Amino acid sequence: MSNSRTSLTKFTTFGINAKAKDIIVATSPDSLAEFWRLAVDRHDPVLILGEGSNVLFLEDFSGTILLNRIKGITITEDGDSWRLHVGAGENWHELVKYSLEQGMSGLENLALIPGCAGSAPIQNIGAYGIEFQRVCDYVDVLNLRTNEVFRLTADECHFGYRESIFKHNYRDGYAIIAVGLRLDKLWQPVLNYGDLAQLPRETVTPKQVFDSVCHMRKTKLPDPHETGNAGSFFKNPVVTAAVAAQIKMIFPDAPMYPQASGDMKLAAGWLIDRCDLKGFQVGGAAVHQKQALVLINKDHATSADVAMLAQAVRNRVAEKFGVWLEPEVRFISATGEVNAVEVLS
Ligand code: NAP
Repeated sequence: MSNSRTSLTKFTTFGINAKAKDIIVATSPDSLAEFWRLAVDRHDPVLILGEGSNVLFLEDFSGTILLNRIKGITITEDGDSWRLHVGAGENWHELVKYSLEQGMSGLENLALIPGCAGSAPIQNIGAYGIEFQRVCDYVDVLNLRTNEVFRLTADECHFGYRESIFKHNYRDGYAIIAVGLRLDKLWQPVLNYGDLAQLPRETVTPKQVFDSVCHMRKTKLPDPHETGNAGSFFKNPVVTAAVAAQIKMIFPDAPMYPQASGDMKLAAGWLIDRCDLKGFQVGGAAVHQKQALVLINKDHATSADVAMLAQAVRNRVAEKFGVWLEPEVRFISATGEVNAVEVLS
């Protein structure tokens, strides 16, 4: 446990200069609950962060940031599967690497996603055809008001596209302290995205999939250690089949992915690119040259730069395609999370 007053810059992947009144590292559920109560008793707003890979601080935070650094991985197995119980503060990519080193497959498509294991269920992280919900067995949650721990099954997490119950019912006053993963021993590679489709299905290994995902990500996405960013800034919009058909008439090459609901998923990065916005800059913030869905902190960007850039991108896409993009990144005001769409409207 340590307690320091400091800048938030290195605790978010955007690397934007915002401050909090207090930043505290918690390494156990008890310390998390204790620091949370102390802050609440002082009437301070409190926000729990993992590695800050999906947040934009719009201004200085007037309260306490609790960094969830609860560690530990335990592995058990039965005939069909491996079970991993993972402390919320474990780094996600290190977990993916570790599981493969132990001969356990299933997480390889989710390599190199920044952030902690405990943050993964919140937005149901996903990449290259696999979402967290596919490997989730349970999520352990601490009720900070009562100090009680309870377990949610994957079904009870209400996972959706970048969605879960942790953005709603369990957003405030609760902390994820561990996740339980279940990895099938019978490996079924998921190879329908990008370069993965070129791998030989019969002979491919989990390590090859991992390497290919790492290669794709490294060549296309900015490394947050070098260039501040929070991954995809917007969600891929899901529109009705009728709206999709209208867009397809005018833009026949628009990528579209049918959903089980009958709706159609559009590629937000493609929409932004088609507005000729790659490289577009507002102050120190810019649209990434290689992947338009990522907004970067190019040169000492302020949060106002990023918000103005996001607003400009959103407006241009709506003008051209009639589709309003919604941020995937969560916006934090001085006192807590705010509705990102309202901020940009
Ligand atoms: P991409 O290959 O340029 O494709 C653009 C979008 O089209 C993706 O976002 C993906 O949607 C969708 N897509 C592509 N192939 C698909 C298929 N076979 N079936 C259904 N949908 C398909 O995407 P990218 O930017 O390089 O990203 C690759 C993967 O990494 C994607 O899954 C993406 O979500 C993930 N990623 C996530 C973040 C983040 O911060 N959340 C950042 C970078 C990459 P989906 O996004 O729904 O998969």
